[in-house]
Amino acid sequence: MLDWLFGSRCAACGRAFEVGVFEALCELCVHHVLEAAPPACLCNGAAPCRLPGCAPLVAPWLYGGATREAVLRLKWSHATEVARQLGAAMADAMRGTCPAEGVTIVPVPAQRDRLRQRGYHPPALLAEVIALRLGLKHRVDALWRRDLGPVRGTDGRAHGPTPCFEACVPRRIRRVWLVDDVVTTGMTLRAATAALREAGVQVEGASVVARAGPSCSGAL
Ligand SMILES: [Zn+2]
Ligand SMILES: [Zn+2]
Repeated sequence: MLDWLFGSRCAACGRAFEVGVFEALCELCVHHVLEAAPPACLCNGAAPCRLPGCAPLVAPWLYGGATREAVLRLKWSHATEVARQLGAAMADAMRGTCPAEGVTIVPVPAQRDRLRQRGYHPPALLAEVIALRLGLKHRVDALWRRDLGPVRGTDGRAHGPTPCFEACVPRRIRRVWLVDDVVTTGMTLRAATAALREAGVQVEGASVVARAGPSCSGAL
């Protein structure tokens, strides 16, 4: 209760701290954050390509260190407080890039077995926080996920199912902004974008808590 009144809990280490400029993490953990993520786009996950159809990919941070801890807590500890802090940081990073009105925030659905395992959906929690903070609407059932068979890497190993989505968007929603927790290759976000565009919906951009930087080699 006192934490709620006078401060907040660090999204990475769980320590109570006074809310400062860096809202999600305590000062100790901020020093372990690798670096802020530079601007990127959905097309290639790296610097914006500015080709036709290019949409921004906004992330407050690169994946690793404290942000990895924060994402793991968000994904596995049913920590709605973590979602509130990370969602707020994402919303602040979106200001100036995400249109201020007329856009609906849409979380990327999880694989069904993951949803069953966790019993909650982190991107949906983030989408709700972001929508509230930016004064936008959000909608959790705009996308349905029906993954196809496993993806095979260049080494021939299976890397989980191929993300595949179907859009189910009411006619009045024509512009959306996607929200997911982390992005590595960007394959999932691109598949979600393709499904929405096929349904005539404009994808203005996407946000994640953290995205893999050029040096990130591990699976998320
Ligand atoms: Zn901390
Ligand atoms: Zn691009």
